[in-house]
Amino acid sequence: MPRRIGIFGGTFDPIHVGHLVTAVNARAALNLDVVELVVANEPWQKVGGRAVTPAADRLALVAAAVHDCEGIEVSDREIRRGGPSFTIDTVREILADEPGAQLALIVGADVIARLSSWRSVAALQALCELVVVNRPGSRLPEGAALAAALAGWRYEVIEVPALEVSSTDLRDRAATGRPLDFLIPEGAIRVIRERGLYALDR
Ligand code: ATP
Ligand code: MG
Repeated sequence: MPRRIGIFGGTFDPIHVGHLVTAVNARAALNLDVVELVVANEPWQKVGGRAVTPAADRLALVAAAVHDCEGIEVSDREIRRGGPSFTIDTVREILADEPGAQLALIVGADVIARLSSWRSVAALQALCELVVVNRPGSRLPEGAALAAALAGWRYEVIEVPALEVSSTDLRDRAATGRPLDFLIPEGAIRVIRERGLYALDR
């Protein structure tokens, strides 16, 4: 039987419960063997804006967050590859390692609008199913509008618990001394403190 692999890419700057709840629920809903949290090396759509935390630190946060979570794994392949992170390269690498694997690309509703700007979209559409999850603050189009927005994709929409959490808000919380507890897994908060990330020094 080919393995069913979920690919959940992100900057994870930092990882939070919204990411983890999405990963475990997508795994369950789609009967995936594993969901890989793929940490972007250079999130090219974010470069040029704010400074992104070094990839090694973001990877350490994700590793600490998932370490005990069955079927959820951290992937450093985009960091090992270096340079800007294109999902198509990641997908091709995974398929080279594991020919015949069934791939599900997991994205939050806010990502839909940007999908058409991704590199080699047609190739991605041929190689992966798209799994879209709801996210507070990003209304998903419905019916024909959704089909139009996702034209060319084999896709499925799954409902996950709506958690209004974002890395942007967490960075702001850290910088202004507000609590991160229960929004970021404890192990990852420890890494933030140890490494002095996000100007969190308490
Ligand atoms: P930032 O605010 O820096 O953009 P983020 O919270 O959006 O951070 P990303 O690393 O940009 O996190 O997102 C990675 C993936 O996780 C994207 O597909 C995004 O839609 C999804 N995602 C992030 N937060 C949530 C959430 N609370 N619920 C569902 N999906 C989420
Ligand atoms: Mg985002």
